[in-house]
This record gives sequence, structure tokens and C-alpha cells, in this order.
Amino acid sequence: MADATDPLTTDVISPARDEAAEPLPSSGPHVLPVHAVRVSGLCKTYRKTGRGSAKLALDNVDLEIPRGSLFGLLGPNGAGKSTLINILAGLVTKSAGEVRVWDIDITERPRDARAAIGVVPQELSIDPFFTPRELLDLQAGLFGVPLHRRRTMAVLEAVGLADKADAYARTLSGGMRRRLLVAKAMVHRPPVLVLDEPTAGVDIELRQQLWAHVRTLNRAGVTILLTTHYLEEAEGLCDRIAIIDHGRVIACDTTQALLRRIDSKMLTLTVSETLTAVPAALAPFDAELKDRHILVLHYKPSTTPVGAILGAVQTAGLTLVDLMTDETDLEDIFLQLTRGSRAREQG
Ligand code: ADP
Ligand code: MG
Repeated sequence: MADATDPLTTDVISPARDEAAEPLPSSGPHVLPVHAVRVSGLCKTYRKTGRGSAKLALDNVDLEIPRGSLFGLLGPNGAGKSTLINILAGLVTKSAGEVRVWDIDITERPRDARAAIGVVPQELSIDPFFTPRELLDLQAGLFGVPLHRRRTMAVLEAVGLADKADAYARTLSGGMRRRLLVAKAMVHRPPVLVLDEPTAGVDIELRQQLWAHVRTLNRAGVTILLTTHYLEEAEGLCDRIAIIDHGRVIACDTTQALLRRIDSKMLTLTVSETLTAVPAALAPFDAELKDRHILVLHYKPSTTPVGAILGAVQTAGLTLVDLMTDETDLEDIFLQLTRGSRAREQG
């Protein structure tokens, strides 16, 4: 076996290969599961509180997260993302349906299922009077990781907190606390890591640092499930995306396939001539004059080749100075889908 370089990712997937490895259940699957997480018919109704009424937070959710994927769960506030994640983590009890983590039923074998998953919660809850070293040791103890298998310092090094091992948690910056929570979720070397809005309120530099770390873990074989509000980040990071709205999964596909769903592109042309109207040759392309030198065109790439547009530019006798296309992004698809699901609900 080659030496892994990142201490945090060393043999993260070994528990399934190596029966002696702890703490994953020794009675666990002998072959690696096809799906790291499988959810079917999952429902969650929060019970009626004092004044509020009962709330159906998850409505018959089916979801399959392939092993090894970097999976994004997106949806507006209140969609049910944290509820789903907390059920996977064993923090919230489901009302109905079946949930398997690493092929382990969370109801039949809750302890084993919990050992297969590490969760970084949405809230930054860290006991301020512990040091990172103490916190990780405590967590390892909770998960029954034997002393000789603990790698507290290696884990801290991997998240760049080695020099803070003995500092009180209350003295750590927000970014450091976030990284400490990632470390805490990884101490028992789970094959599945779940991050709930890990970059909410985190500055751009730290966000990129965190994502780089997530990518490294994923490349080492850890299946990642994350929720984020930043759609463009999910677009760049995730290989698969599920969109959830009002407790229902309204789309689930590879990121590329989702992006292909919207057949529309925008082309911005800058020309050297001074224009007062859209030239007749360009009229068929849904063109508008943005500025005396700038034309914006909307077209469907499936039916309109860019060559046809460029031919029309030539016909119009224009000289191109610059040309810029704007791809559809996840934001467009997200809005289209969530609008669609609302319309269906209303009628
Ligand atoms: P998200 O993480 O996507 O923002 P949540 O899973 O936190 O959504 O919430 C889904 C819905 O369930 C919301 O309407 C929320 O108000 C409700 N909810 C969440 N937690 C509770 C709870 N403990 N008790 C009652 N309702 C809850
Ligand atoms: Mg949430």
C-alpha cells in the first residue's frame, strides 16, 4: 500500500477493506457499497409546538449518493436540507421511510451507521473551554477509537491547526473553529463526510481554503455531501446536485446534465461602428442594442450555431472588436425549477 501524504485522509476508506480497522463495524459490508447514502420514501413531520402547527419538513424524499461523489444538496431556506442531514447523522428521528448510510440501516444499526458518517453541523458549536487537542480526544473517545489508533495531531495538521492544538477554543477565529469542526467530524475516519452550510458567513479566502480541503478528502475516496447557499460554488465543486424545495427533491442529476437543461445562451458583441438600431441582419437573433457599440443577443445553442450569428454580423457589415458569451449557470436553473415546483403546487 502506497503512503498517503495527507494524514487526515490516510486510510479513510480502509475500514471497508481492512476488517481489523476500527471503528467501522466489523460486521459491515465486505464489498464497498455502490451508494454511500440511500434514502427512500423519507418523511419528517415535526410535531406541533406550543403555538406552531405540525410541519412536514421532508415529503417522500428519494436520494442516492454514489460512493466517491462530491454531492451538493441545494435549496432555499427552510427547504429541509438540515433536517435531511440531521436524520443521516442520527440527530433527528425520521417519521417514515428508509435510510441507509454506507449500506447500514440507520434504524436497525444506529451506532454502526453513525460510525460511517462524520457531520459538520450548520451551527458553530464548540465548547470554548476545551483546546482543539482535548476536543478531538473527547470525540475519538465518544466514537470508541482506541488510543493506539488516534491521530489527533495528524488530524490537526491536516486542517492547519497544529500550532493551535493547546489553545483554548474560544481564542480561535471563526475560520479556525470551522476547520476544527471538520477535524472533529473526521476523527473516527468515516467514509462519508457531511457539511451543512460550511461556508455561510465565511470570507472568500477561507471558503476557498475549505473547498480545497474538501476536494482533497474527496480525491482520497471520502464521499462528500454538502449544502451551500452559494450556487456558483456548488457548480464548480460538485459532480452531482440535488435540488430540494418544500421538503421535496425537484431535481437530481450530474451538474453537467442540470446545466444542459436550460437551452439558452447570451452573446455580447462589441463592434467598432456606431449603431443607432439593431441591424436588420441580426434581427432574427433576439438582439438588443445595449450601447452604441454593444449588441446583446439571446439564442438557443441547440438550434442556432454561433457561426450563423457571426455570418449575420458580416452581412451587416460590422467589425467585431470583442465577443463574449455568457453560459447559463446554476442560478438560472435553480430559479426555473423552484418556480416550477411552486406553480405545480398552486395548481
Ligand atoms: P433548511 O436547512 O433547508 O433551511 P430545515 O431542515 O432547517 O431547512 O427546515 C425545514 C423546515 O422544518 C422549516 O420549515 C423549519 O422551520 C422546520 N423545522 C426545522 N427544525 C424544526 C424543529 N426542530 N421543529 C419544528 N420545525 C422545524
Ligand atoms: Mg439548514
